Amino acid sequence: MSSVRDVFDRPMGALRISLTDRCNLRCRYCMPEEEYAWLPRQDLLTFEEIERITEVFVSVGVDKIRLTGGEPLLRRDLPELVRRLAGVPGVKDLAMTTNGVLLARHAEPLREAGLHRVTVSLDTLRPDRFAEMTRRGTHDEVLAGIAAAVATGLTDLKIDTVMMRGYNDDELADLIEFGRTVSAEVRFIEYMDVGGATRWQPEKVLSRAEILQEISSRYGSYEEVRRTDSAPADRFRLPDGTVFGIISSTTQPFCASCDRSRLTADGMWLRCLYAITGTDLRTPLRSGATDDELRTLITGTWQRRADRGAVDRLSGRADGQVFVSLESLKRDPHLEMHTRGG
Ligand code: SAM
Repeated sequence: MSSVRDVFDRPMGALRISLTDRCNLRCRYCMPEEEYAWLPRQDLLTFEEIERITEVFVSVGVDKIRLTGGEPLLRRDLPELVRRLAGVPGVKDLAMTTNGVLLARHAEPLREAGLHRVTVSLDTLRPDRFAEMTRRGTHDEVLAGIAAAVATGLTDLKIDTVMMRGYNDDELADLIEFGRTVSAEVRFIEYMDVGGATRWQPEKVLSRAEILQEISSRYGSYEEVRRTDSAPADRFRLPDGTVFGIISSTTQPFCASCDRSRLTADGMWLRCLYAITGTDLRTPLRSGATDDELRTLITGTWQRRADRGAVDRLSGRADGQVFVSLESLKRDPHLEMHTRGG
């Protein structure tokens, strides 16, 4: 574990690397617009640059890498990047978060390249709802992607579901049952006000307390699984042994134990999902900075990290403002959830 600590004594543990800001879905809670200001292609970090920056981060304590996006499977030759990152000594956990649409064809090559595990985002088991929410008709492809991940032997499969009142809150048990059939742990994410102009509404949030109440009325009881890591989900076990998780980012933020930071596809390093500003690592990378210089920049910046974005968001919510206006998002795509990686 990292000996570098931030202002609140939090170590640097996990790095989420966004590989592209593009996505093949248009989920209403994440990308409600049809068109966006995209990152310029020449700014995207190359595989060599991602590998090098990963080595530097690992040398100062990061040991968990998660590939995300946008949709990471849209990045061409992804197995090649996975092979490089799997070969970085010190990477203990190499995972990917995907919407699963393209997973059926990529699961096997990714596992062969050394990907440890995959999390598939799936909010509903109903194709009509999926089409309504994502504005794409690729529900079958996602289910095929999950089946392929299972068949190919990617272990520790997780399914992440954003729970929204009036959309999929009647599918809690169905999703748990589905998870059981594919040996996946289902994790319910509270709908977050993630900063973009996503028309987030507090009434749509299905809280952790409500999720637990609904589950106990269906299954009788559950017990909390004791934490052994700094993962965002609290985990619970049902009487038959099935485990599910809740990521209560909105009503019970877990900033106090957050060891995660994010690298956008163009090399902007963000120390919090809600951060408005980040540190540009692409410029020093491309202008010849040595590993030591990058290390100094990264550790010095982490030591000044005082972000508690979700806690701040919770306490300041009453103002009813859109967190970042559409105009600002058009000027700076780094403020978008699909750019910073969820
Ligand atoms: N495209 C990939 C995927 O769908 O998993 C990776 C990127 S996506 C931004 C990562 C995760 O963020 C997804 O599970 C998505 O559902 C979640 N997400 C996006 N907007 C969210 C919001 N407003 N509240 C909660 N989770 C959100």
